[in-house]
Amino acid sequence: MSTPPIRVRTAAASDTGQVRDNNQDSYLVGTTVFAVADGMGGHAGGEVASSEALEPIAALDAREFATAAEATEALRDAILEANARVVAHGEEHPELAGMGTTLTAGLLREGRLHLAHVGDSRAYLLHADGDLLQLTTDHNLVEQMVQDGRISRDQAAKHPQRNVITRAIGVEREVQVDTLEPIALRPGDQVLLCSDGLTGPVDDEVIRARLTAGEADEATVSQLVRAANEAGGPDNITAVLLRVEGAEDHGDGATPAAAAGAAGADEAHGARAGAGDGAPGPTHEISTAPGSLDSSDWAAQFGRLGEQQGARRGSVGDPKSPRGRGRLGRLTAGLLGLVLLVGLIGGGGYALVARAYFLGVDDDGLVTIYNGIPQEIAGVPLHWEVEGTDLVADELPSYRQSRLEDGLAVNNLNQAHSTVRSWSEDLEAEADDDNDTDDDNDADDDRDGD
Ligand code: CA
Repeated sequence: MSTPPIRVRTAAASDTGQVRDNNQDSYLVGTTVFAVADGMGGHAGGEVASSEALEPIAALDAREFATAAEATEALRDAILEANARVVAHGEEHPELAGMGTTLTAGLLREGRLHLAHVGDSRAYLLHADGDLLQLTTDHNLVEQMVQDGRISRDQAAKHPQRNVITRAIGVEREVQVDTLEPIALRPGDQVLLCSDGLTGPVDDEVIRARLTAGEADEATVSQLVRAANEAGGPDNITAVLLRVEGAEDHGDGATPAAAAGAAGADEAHGARAGAGDGAPGPTHEISTAPGSLDSSDWAAQFGRLGEQQGARRGSVGDPKSPRGRGRLGRLTAGLLGLVLLVGLIGGGGYALVARAYFLGVDDDGLVTIYNGIPQEIAGVPLHWEVEGTDLVADELPSYRQSRLEDGLAVNNLNQAHSTVRSWSEDLEAEADDDNDTDDDNDADDDRDGD
């Protein structure tokens, strides 16, 4: 091989962030394999999905491959295996139905980095000369809109639907895995794998600045997590850093393709449990009110989604719609909450995993919290009702009504709740004011008399 021998130092950090109750990200730092997985799903589903997805990757650690092609193939197979495992786990544990995860995995062989991924967890390469390249292409709706020329890259960075991913592990039996040409690493290069909890709130320039700040490896990943938290920390944050040095450089703790001070591959679970801020949070469902979701309801709704293909406009959550399993029958049992399948539209096994919420108005004129995005494809709505409210849209000030018209995007269910709460309080305060003027005329007169 023409590539010079290298050593790699590693560091990783993971944090729940400022908004979420638990950390559903997982990461893996082995001797030759590295990965980040960003889980999603109710109950403990997200954590289960992301940690389970790492196991087939961990099984590749320190394995030798005769050719580069064989290594890439093994990485792809491991991701397919991860998908099969999470799907099977979901089928065996109905309470975890609907879980899924991203998976971005790297494998080092003979000084080259092999990469494969599904979802929107990214891999970056920072060259010794300071150029920062995003190696992966996000599998999300916003990236697709950029590629279609519908929005600019700058608009994408702040787009409210940037967290809607178009591919995920564990959602369907079939999954399309992107593999990259192996990248020759040179001394001074840095590779960063990270979840969107970092790249959402923190832009590339900040990432570049942190990586080039000259800080120690552990401090660098901590500072990346800190930057995301200081920018609001809306999601779980995970960063895995590889720093490349020449094999003849004797950096502390570095071994030929080594994991310095990081969890071994066989500690995939430990790595996630030990993620950043220590104690894993409670594993209750974070984004749904207790009892508000029930997998059979979701199953019925997805069935209706199938039936409504090409039908008139209408909400998936319309309680008057006929129920049925439709063409999505085999998929429905495993779906809960966060996963919206639109495979039926393109016929291509295509999944939209909607981690997005918005406020809209239902058929009865009530403000309603929806999961998904306020759009339709071929007459099929890409959203469904999560919770109704008793807030009558018509009673709201007109500027609020107009914000609801196209769907008011919110970051999460908590934000949806607090928006509804403050709007209700404003209405009540207004009503109280009116009452005060009507009922207290006598009192006012008395006071005037004083
Ligand atoms: Ca995330």
